[in-house]
Amino acid sequence: MTAEQIDGKAFALTLREKVGTIAAEFERKAGRKAGLAVVLVGDDPASQVYVRSKGKATLAANMASFEHRLPDDVSGGALLALVEQLNQDPAVDGILVQLPLPAQLDEQQVISAISPDKDVDGFHVINAGRLAVGQDGFVPCTPLGCMMLLTSRLGDLSGLEAVVIGRSNIVGKPMAQLLLDANATVTIAHSRTKDLPAVVRRADVVVAAVGRAEMVKADWLKPGATVIDVGINRVPSNEAGKTRLVGDVDFAGASDVAGAITPVPGGVGPMTIAVLLRNTLVAAHRNAGIDLAKDAV
Ligand code: NAP
Repeated sequence: MTAEQIDGKAFALTLREKVGTIAAEFERKAGRKAGLAVVLVGDDPASQVYVRSKGKATLAANMASFEHRLPDDVSGGALLALVEQLNQDPAVDGILVQLPLPAQLDEQQVISAISPDKDVDGFHVINAGRLAVGQDGFVPCTPLGCMMLLTSRLGDLSGLEAVVIGRSNIVGKPMAQLLLDANATVTIAHSRTKDLPAVVRRADVVVAAVGRAEMVKADWLKPGATVIDVGINRVPSNEAGKTRLVGDVDFAGASDVAGAITPVPGGVGPMTIAVLLRNTLVAAHRNAGIDLAKDAV
């Protein structure tokens, strides 16, 4: 069997275009653009790249982008003051503080300071709680993106066996909640799980969010399973001195067994920014009191 590749890049592009169209309508209705503020502390090169691409994508989706750069040694008080200023700013619908933060800063305290109604990353405990009890809130972008890819491929997930490998607050746990909401039978596996291959072999749907290069092997998979690979791991390439990106799943091997699989890169990765824009658009409508149909984006 050669698995169908789930093209996250194309899906993300379509989603971004849809968001851009609705954002233009929002501007006409609200008399202002939807706005996303991104806060970057320090000069970590990877974070700089993420922030730059988020800014570009925001502008391309007809939204306003507000970038705030703070020095590496900024105090907790100064960062919290900026977050509060953004909470109060009516031009800002979504606030994202790029993680990780330098060691002197308390990430949890900073996330808790963001207004839950502007927490488009969905990391605030209020939004985690809303997801847990089935209320409308903001869902973390990566798992929501995975869910969109899954439903586009499978439609109804009712009764399917789903195994999520990884239990982080930003991927594994919200992913499991979303699958449960979609009536899948969900198992969350982690580093203490016994006989992980046997657990994974039960699954119609596998979501791997571990951070270990090509850990999930072909013979762990049930034939025909749908595999979503969240992992982003940099490994040495065949060319001397160069590296390449691989996921948490052995893509070549798994492609012979799975029914469908996301590649790395080009699978889940592009969905994350697209969903961030989608969440910002939703926040803007809520903040401005303008209706947005539940299935509009
Ligand atoms: P994380 O916080 O490090 O969590 C990793 C999880 O994997 C933990 O729950 C850990 O279990 C589990 N784990 C570690 N080793 C394991 C093993 N041998 N067997 C089974 N489970 C194991 O990572 P994360 O933030 O969730 O990210 C996971 C991966 O997704 C990373 O590669 C990251 O780069 C990638 N990622 C991609 C995107 C994207 O946009 N595509 C976004 C976010 C993250 P314990 O809890 O027991 O330690």
